[in-house]
Amino acid sequence: MRYVSTRGRAPDLGFDDVLLSGLATDGGLYVPAKWPILTRAEIAGLASLDYPALAARIMAPFVEGSVLAGDLESLTRAAYASFTHKAVAPLKQIGANDWLVELFHGPTLAFKDYALQAVGLMFDRVLKARSSRVTIVGATSGDTGSAAIEATRGKDAVDIFILHPEGRTSEVQRRQMTTVDAANVHNIAVKGTFDDCQDMVKAMFADTNFRGDLNLSAVNSINWARIMAQVVYYFWAALAVGAPYRSVAFSVPTGNFGNVFAGFVAQRMGLPIAKFIVGSNSNDILTRFFETGAMTQQGVVATLSPSMDIQVSSNFERLLFENLHRDGAAVSRLMDQLKQSGSYRVPDEAYQAMVAGFTGRRLDDAGTKRIIGDTYKSTGELIDPHTAVGLYAARAANLPAELPRLTLATAHPAKFPAAVKDATGIAPALPASLADLFTRKERFTVLPNDLAQVKAFVRAHARSAKAPA
Ligand SMILES: *Cc1c(COP(=O)(O)O)cnc(C)c1O
Repeated sequence: MRYVSTRGRAPDLGFDDVLLSGLATDGGLYVPAKWPILTRAEIAGLASLDYPALAARIMAPFVEGSVLAGDLESLTRAAYASFTHKAVAPLKQIGANDWLVELFHGPTLAFKDYALQAVGLMFDRVLKARSSRVTIVGATSGDTGSAAIEATRGKDAVDIFILHPEGRTSEVQRRQMTTVDAANVHNIAVKGTFDDCQDMVKAMFADTNFRGDLNLSAVNSINWARIMAQVVYYFWAALAVGAPYRSVAFSVPTGNFGNVFAGFVAQRMGLPIAKFIVGSNSNDILTRFFETGAMTQQGVVATLSPSMDIQVSSNFERLLFENLHRDGAAVSRLMDQLKQSGSYRVPDEAYQAMVAGFTGRRLDDAGTKRIIGDTYKSTGELIDPHTAVGLYAARAANLPAELPRLTLATAHPAKFPAAVKDATGIAPALPASLADLFTRKERFTVLPNDLAQVKAFVRAHARSAKAPA
């Protein structure tokens, strides 16, 4: 499979290069040159597969030509072996036609594990085939860092450095990163804010010598491989409630638009999805877009669902590309407008196509607590604040009653114990796999908010480091 950039001015690449490079050189995002299509009979035939087999089958056309192509199922078996539920992504029925798709049975209790556990192995295998190594650097205020660390721990071809603001992440989040005992994992607690950490990561990527010497790489949510691995659970969940003989709707608590875009890919491949419901917290740029056709940035406010506290959704560019008939120049113009004025409006034809498939709903923190409380009262289930936003959106969208509504439960309630306890009076317990989290030994290095010192630390500890010329 070849991949093209959404901005039309970067070279086409094969899967392995797309995996390792992340962003295209023209600033765009990579998408497959064409969508693989499954017939109805082929989709029906997937219903008997277990999760790792389904994952290999769904991802196969996207990795055609890659060194991974020959042995994809051994990779997916290894990726999902550590998940604590036998079904990997179990469904729970919570109403007449309402289901939760539980995507929190991986090592860090959020849906990002479902992609990153596979992507970490992909990095390792592709790099070994090339006899190469990378240094991954990233900044985190919470969830992404721990999922990336769990995905790359102990991998020979990868060293990972995650910066977090000292004293400014929750204790659960910090311990999920700092208690990982692997020689290739480096946690750096910076005496500064999350923005300071992010600025330092950007500065490291912008320094061409440093970037080249260390073979810097990232596993952020614009990486196509993460989207690809997320397509799998849309098939999994829809098959479980009667697809392809029945259409379904998905409600997705959304931040960067990566997760819901994976659903769009499943739809392009032939899965009958009648509607996507995009759930947002008070950072409602997407809800406003689906209401008006204008994407307009505002400031970010902190909410109970921090993984959706976003100013813009970078993966939305991929949907734009599809709905502008893959016109990279047109996408570039809108992205330039956004950069210059903080706003763009899509042509009416594209807007009509988008709202035929998507609708958006917003929910503030008071509403989020109300939904957590009501859900507990009516079903006995504890849900996390992100899932609550999705569940509300699923109901508020007023879809036909006969359409199964599948809400993606993106995090385990024990990841956000304060909000859940506040809403229900019950403190959710960590699952057995993490029960000793608070007694495990932590490992991290405290560094000043100083780029030169952070770079020196990375250079000194990365195995791929070439001596500076
Ligand atoms: C990352 C995350 C989201 C947002 O997903 P996107 O792919 O960025 O839209 C939602 N919920 C949780 C718990 C997350 O960690």
